[in-house]
Order: sequence, then C-alpha cells, then structure tokens
Amino acid sequence: MLWNQGLAEELGWEGSPASHPEQLQALAGNQPLPSSQPVATVYAGHQFGQYNPQLGDGRATLLGEWLTPSGDRFDVQLKGAGPTAYSRGGDGRSPIGPVIREYVVSEAMHALGVPTSRALAAVSTGEPVVRNRIEPGAILTRVASSHLRIGTIQYFAMTRGGDEVGTLVDYAVSRHFADHIARGDLPANNAAVTLLDGVCAHFARLVSHWQVLGFVHGVLNTDNALLCGQTIDYGPCAFMDHFDPQACFSSIDRQGRYAWPNQPGIMHWNLAVLAECLLPLIDDDEQRSKETAQQLIDQFPARFHAHHQQWLAAKLGLDRITEADGALIQRFHDIMAAERLDMTLAFRWLTEIAGDSLDDSPLPELFAAPASLIDWSGEWQDRRALNRGEADAITQAMRATNPTVIPRNHLVQRAIDLAEQGQLEWIDALVERSAAPFEWRPGDEEWARPPSEDERVTRTFCGT
Ligand code: AMP
Ligand code: MG
Repeated sequence: MLWNQGLAEELGWEGSPASHPEQLQALAGNQPLPSSQPVATVYAGHQFGQYNPQLGDGRATLLGEWLTPSGDRFDVQLKGAGPTAYSRGGDGRSPIGPVIREYVVSEAMHALGVPTSRALAAVSTGEPVVRNRIEPGAILTRVASSHLRIGTIQYFAMTRGGDEVGTLVDYAVSRHFADHIARGDLPANNAAVTLLDGVCAHFARLVSHWQVLGFVHGVLNTDNALLCGQTIDYGPCAFMDHFDPQACFSSIDRQGRYAWPNQPGIMHWNLAVLAECLLPLIDDDEQRSKETAQQLIDQFPARFHAHHQQWLAAKLGLDRITEADGALIQRFHDIMAAERLDMTLAFRWLTEIAGDSLDDSPLPELFAAPASLIDWSGEWQDRRALNRGEADAITQAMRATNPTVIPRNHLVQRAIDLAEQGQLEWIDALVERSAAPFEWRPGDEEWARPPSEDERVTRTFCGT
C-alpha cells in the first residue's frame, strides 16, 4: 500500500490504514467508511470527438464528500473497486500499473503547482485483473475538488434536460465558484454564464501550465475535463523529455488529436461543448443566448495567451514579454527542437546561468549546452539586461517555475515494473523526491537525468 500522509493531514484524516484495519478495508473497497454512502455518478462525453451518451462511472465509486477542518470540500473516490451500474460490461477494476502512474504523476503535478486531483492511497487487491495479460489489481483513492465533468453536464443536458441541468449548474456554481462571485471575479446574475466564464478561466490557466511543463495529458475527452479546473485522469499522460513540438505518446491517439500542440485548441473545443449544453439556460432568446455563449468562449485564446506569456516570462527570467521578444523565444524553441534538447533541463540550464549557480549544481553532469544554445544565450542575456524591476525576484521566479525533477516516463515505468513485483520502497522515494521539484538535492543525478536510449518510453497506454 502507498499512503499519502501529507494529503491525509491536509484533509484532517485521522489515523491511517496501517493502524486502522477498518480504513484499509474501506480503501480496498471491501466495506464503506462509517457514514459513507458510496455511489457511482453518471456522465456522458465526447471521446476523440464522438459523442457517447453514457460513459461512466464504470470503475469509480464515490465514497462521499469530505470536509477539511478549514471547511474545504473534496470528493473521495475509489478507482478500480469493482463494477458499478455504469460499467457497460467492464470489470470496474484496474491493474496496478495505471494506479501507480496516477499516484506518482498526480502527486508530482500537485508539487509542480498544477491544479490536479490527488492520490491519497494505492492498495493492491491481491486479485488478478485480466487485460492483454494477467496483471495484479489495485485501487486508487482519488481526491478531487469534485468530479463534476463537462461530461456530467452533457449527460443531463442531452439525456435528461429540463430542470435537472439547471439544478446541476446551480450546484456546480455554488460548489466551485461561490468565492469567485464573492470577490467580484465572476458575474452572479445567471448561473450558466458564471459557470462558462469560470470554467473558461480555469482551463486557460490549467492548459497554459501543462504547455510550459511539456505535459501531454493524452485523453482530453470532455469527460476528462473537470469543471473545477483540476487535471484528471492520468491515463496515457506523459512529460516530454527532449523537446518535440508535436509530442504525442498515447498509443490510441493515432491522429494526434491530443498531441502537445493541440491541447489549448482542444480545451477551447471542450468549452464550446459545455457552452452548447448551457444554451437553454443562458437566455430565453435563442439568438441572444448564442451570442452570449460565443462571446464567453471567444475569450479563451486571449486568456490562454496571457497566462502562457506569464509563465514564459517567469521561466525565461524576463520582466514581461513584449512583441519584440517573440522571435527570441521562438529561436529558443527551435534550438531545443533541432538539437532534441531535454526541455526541463534546458530551461533549468538558463535558470542556473541566470543565477550564477551552474558550477554549484549537478546540471553540468546532466546537460551539455550545444553551441547554438550558448550563442542564443548571449542574445537572451542582452534582453535580460533590459529587464526592469528586482533582478533577484526575477531569478527567484525562474527557480520557482523551472523544475529540476519531473515524473519522467522512464521513472514512472520503473515504478510500475517494481509495483508489479510488489516492491514499493523505490516508489516511495520517487514520490518523496517529486514533492520538491524546484530544488537540487544530493543524488539528484538519478531523478533529474533524461532517459538513456534503452530506457526511453515513446508510447503510453491508458490501461483501462
Ligand atoms: P477513461 O479512459 O478512464 O476516461 O475511461 C472512459 C470510461 O470507460 C470511464 O469513464 C469508465 O466508466 C469506463 N471504464 C474504463 N475502464 C473500465 C473498466 N475496467 N470497467 C468498467 N468501466 C471502465
Ligand atoms: Mg476518464
């Protein structure tokens, strides 16, 4: 079993499954927690652009909502605990591989500052799960702000309609956007408008963060897009090692629909699907409703761009990004692509030279800057000389946005291989190291280095 004590403390969870057998029974899906009434929630969704009127939850069981001592509300869900009313003939179970992937990557994403569902526990069931081969089964305990998806709204809009969509929208707004309304960040007069505007803001920020980290989600179906703006469903997801502007890892994504460069456009598309479901609630007049919805979704590209520029400015040690900086930034990306430079380490190399710390870090052993990058860095330093504001704060922002350690595919793969053999110590160490992704630590060569040729993982599988 993997147990996330840090998250347990944030939730105000008392005890642990190691010392409380009834907790272990609950996290293994054998008996509910006291006061829990497990349910499976229903949703629909567009999978690779095709509408499916009923998708899930086929292998997830909501144990209930959890209120933290400070009053924050979370869903606690078991993934892989067995069939539900929506399993559509599936077994409702999960092999240990996908459970480990989700545990490791979602916790690393959280440490990187990306809004995400989290992993409280991973429990092996001792039961085999039959896929292409027989694999050991496991259950993940997932914690999210909620599991309301675009696909949840789609199900009620397309299959149930009427007042039920309105009730759901009111609920989603009160659960996720009450604070934004109170702060005056979102309009309050129409819940559907509030929801669309709020989700648009969440997605723009979320996907901009994915992009600058080189994270490829892999299955951005509308059922995998949470209204609360957290990353969910760590199926065939992967981080780039060498910078590849067309990066796509998922074995089932043959057209590259969900490739790295397409993620902002796809989240914009997903938003349009949400808007379509909300049309009857936005305005009684169909034309006015469409105009309002269109205006809201049209904000997405500019919102995304603004966040993306902010991330790039921080990561490149620039006070801001002006139009004149566009060519410089493009050349950096071109060099990374042409030289197949490790994206994470290339950004970190800039961070170390900006802070005069290259000689004090293990980076020279991990990353050799080619002549083209060294040349480019001269122009970049000239541009940095024009920065206004506190130089220290700008360097600090670089350190806080350019990770040293990310959950690289070969690390995740090793974790999965070890878990299948019942070995968890190294996985604990990986999770622990990934919790401090912006610092250097002794022994970091193991965690920060790119994969060797034979470790490289180029295809990932969703593991359903
Ligand atoms: P996902 O790729 O995890 O987003 O899967 C899409 C949907 O397929 C999920 O919402 C589940 O309802 C369903 N599903 C995936 N795996 C299983 C399984 N082993 N048993 C039942 N349903 C499943
Ligand atoms: Mg899913």
